[in-house]
Amino acid sequence: MKSVLIIGGGVSGLTAGILAQKSGYRSIIIEKHFELGGNLTGWQRGEYHIDNCIHWLTGTNKNDGNYKVWQDIGAFDDQDIIYNQTLYSYQLDGKTLSLSIDLDKLENDMLSASPTDEKRIKRLIKAVGAMQRIMGVGGKAHDEKSKGFSRVKDYLALSGYLGLTCGQLAKKFDNRLIRGFLSKFLTENFSSIALIAVFAAFTGRDGGLYKGGSLKMAERLKKNYLSLGGNVILGKAVESVNHFEGSAYSATLSDGSTVSADAFILTCDPMVSFKKLLDFPLPAAFERLYNDKKLSRFSAFQCAFKVEDVEKMPFRGQVVFDLDGLEKDMLMTDYIAVREFSHEPSFAPKGQTVIQSMFFLSERACRQFIELKNDAVNYADKKKFYASVVLRAIERNFPTLKGLVKLLDVWTPATYKRFVSSDVGSFMSFAFSSNVLPRRISSKVDGLDNVFLATQWQQAPGGLPIAASCGAQAARLVENLFRKERPYGAIQLKNLVKQ
Ligand SMILES: Cc1cc2nc3c(=O)[nH]c(=O)nc-3n(C[C@H](O)[C@H](O)[C@H](O)COP(=O)(O)OP(=O)(O)OC[C@H]3O[C@@H](n4cnc5c(N)ncnc54)[C@H](O)[C@@H]3O)c2cc1C
Repeated sequence: MKSVLIIGGGVSGLTAGILAQKSGYRSIIIEKHFELGGNLTGWQRGEYHIDNCIHWLTGTNKNDGNYKVWQDIGAFDDQDIIYNQTLYSYQLDGKTLSLSIDLDKLENDMLSASPTDEKRIKRLIKAVGAMQRIMGVGGKAHDEKSKGFSRVKDYLALSGYLGLTCGQLAKKFDNRLIRGFLSKFLTENFSSIALIAVFAAFTGRDGGLYKGGSLKMAERLKKNYLSLGGNVILGKAVESVNHFEGSAYSATLSDGSTVSADAFILTCDPMVSFKKLLDFPLPAAFERLYNDKKLSRFSAFQCAFKVEDVEKMPFRGQVVFDLDGLEKDMLMTDYIAVREFSHEPSFAPKGQTVIQSMFFLSERACRQFIELKNDAVNYADKKKFYASVVLRAIERNFPTLKGLVKLLDVWTPATYKRFVSSDVGSFMSFAFSSNVLPRRISSKVDGLDNVFLATQWQQAPGGLPIAASCGAQAARLVENLFRKERPYGAIQLKNLVKQ
């Protein structure tokens, strides 16, 4: 039986593994940690569960192309997906504007916030509707897809936004609440088309939460993989993929052992896959992405807190708010997102809940954290200091929580670097700016006929559906390779019989 070795047991690797098993090949996932899931994860701190991935899972609407991949790997049944009423809210001066799941409500809320922005609001909502139809999740039943001339009209409704970042879009509005709402979810420099896609997917019922949290989804994928006969080696990193004359033949693991296979799928950050594992130059297509000024790598500073009285929670879902002058100076950022988990009562003891804070860090700030990690005392001090400022900001913005919020955990880009080995501690791939329409980079590796990529880095901005569909693409390429190698195999024979 032909065999495929998969390096990394995140969603890309698990997807490739499940599909390889379903195609009848022998697969083995080698994962440096003792758990599968990669960034799709969560962990315990005492009686509290920290869920660290799914803010929203797209591809949950049957008309989205990614739904099929999720079904092929058995990621969820429809009842596993929860649709919250809002994806995020922005708060300013005691006022709140939320991304409601109901597009009409979003339009009305924006109009009430700023009647003078009526023309701009209506145009934006029209663009969201157009994006929904392009994605196939438009209309009242969230299943309309535009075709032919109506598709052209939908592209035209979006064309004016292509050249705008979220920050530039926000500046067109009079109202400060709307400006913050549009520019402080994805960040100022992110493409406004990406923001419109977020609005379209969420209001088109194509982005939900996974009931039970991220770890539960990872466990389900792991179970599916193992039940199909998949093999795993956990707790050992791959140090190199050994190749000769254009084909790879084995991988060397951190304990010095080697594992051979007929094909190889690499799911790590390409900086690591090419420069370290393959000892190969980074392909030109990736080189361009890493050097493109319109694309950037990022990560975040994150904290989890327990809230000792869930009844005192003053908000639902995720809220973004501005920091005050002192907090801005200390954290070197202008705003912060705080998310609550009261929809998952099992994440905390009865009567309590967990909240998490997050603010994005530039690639430069990520490198500083990674560098600082070498100095254990200063790294610990910086984490402690930042967490105390975050706590101050939370208590200032939500006075009902004063004295009820206690720190559970803190993590930084250095944590992600250690955890998933991404080059600068990223957990998504590239953020993209205006005038960029991200294209998918092929899973094929020039110069190596049996090595394939399956990683969120193949398409900005990454995320779970991109990871899964790249995993599926790599599995298909492996299947093509193996079929080619047995030209008189069952499939070709079946085709001949049909003719
Ligand atoms: C806080 C946070 C919020 C997020 N929110 C969302 C969201 O709401 N929606 C969404 O779609 N996505 C979200 N994401 C992004 C999502 O988690 C990732 O896009 C996805 O998990 C990437 O999957 P992957 O398999 O490509 O990579 P990874 O998850 O990075 O998996 C790679 C795996 O390879 C392993 N590995 C690396 N090097 C080696 C080696 N040498 N040997 C063996 N194993 C190795 C790593 O340990 C890891 O398990 C979020 C992520 C985080 C952290």
